[in-house]
Amino acid sequence: MRRCLGCGLSAPPGDLIRLSAPAGTPQVDIRRLAGGRGAHVCYSRKCLEEAFKKRRLSRALKVSHVDATAGDITAAVVHQLNRLLACELERAARMGALIVKQERVRMALDAGSVRLLLTASDDRGDADGLARALWRRCRVPAFPVRPDAVIRLLPKAWNDHDVVAVQKRPCTLRVEKVLRHLDAMGWLD
Ligand SMILES: [Zn+2]
Repeated sequence: MRRCLGCGLSAPPGDLIRLSAPAGTPQVDIRRLAGGRGAHVCYSRKCLEEAFKKRRLSRALKVSHVDATAGDITAAVVHQLNRLLACELERAARMGALIVKQERVRMALDAGSVRLLLTASDDRGDADGLARALWRRCRVPAFPVRPDAVIRLLPKAWNDHDVVAVQKRPCTLRVEKVLRHLDAMGWLD
């Protein structure tokens, strides 16, 4: 367990943002690949802002000066989460666990094999409404996502479709975890 610098609550390391400062400047390390001293913060803008108060972050990282703002760190976290989401979706596509096209998604929903839905919000349709309608129908988690940031990272098939279903439990768990973190950062508005 690790303790959040912002709110002080403990959580498993994978549920917290890891920050490190290998060259004296804080860096976001959500994949936990950097060595050295680390600091942990909840996936929450509020906790990140708290961590920047009273020199908590510089003390935790043992650096004299933190050359970044809470906004910089938030942007870096969202950027890394988006890249991670793209990786997880590509992995799901390779495993045959992604379905696009509303008709095919609806058939899969009726067959009970869908575990998670992503609906892209753009000018063409009401992603929130679509997510709600599909959720009412099937009771699986549905996330409205911003296509401008995510679509270009997805398998090509997404481009023409406003709903993607994820099947197979391991894929779903990995994708859903990243989406929940993005949501907690206020990114899925
Ligand atoms: Zn916290």
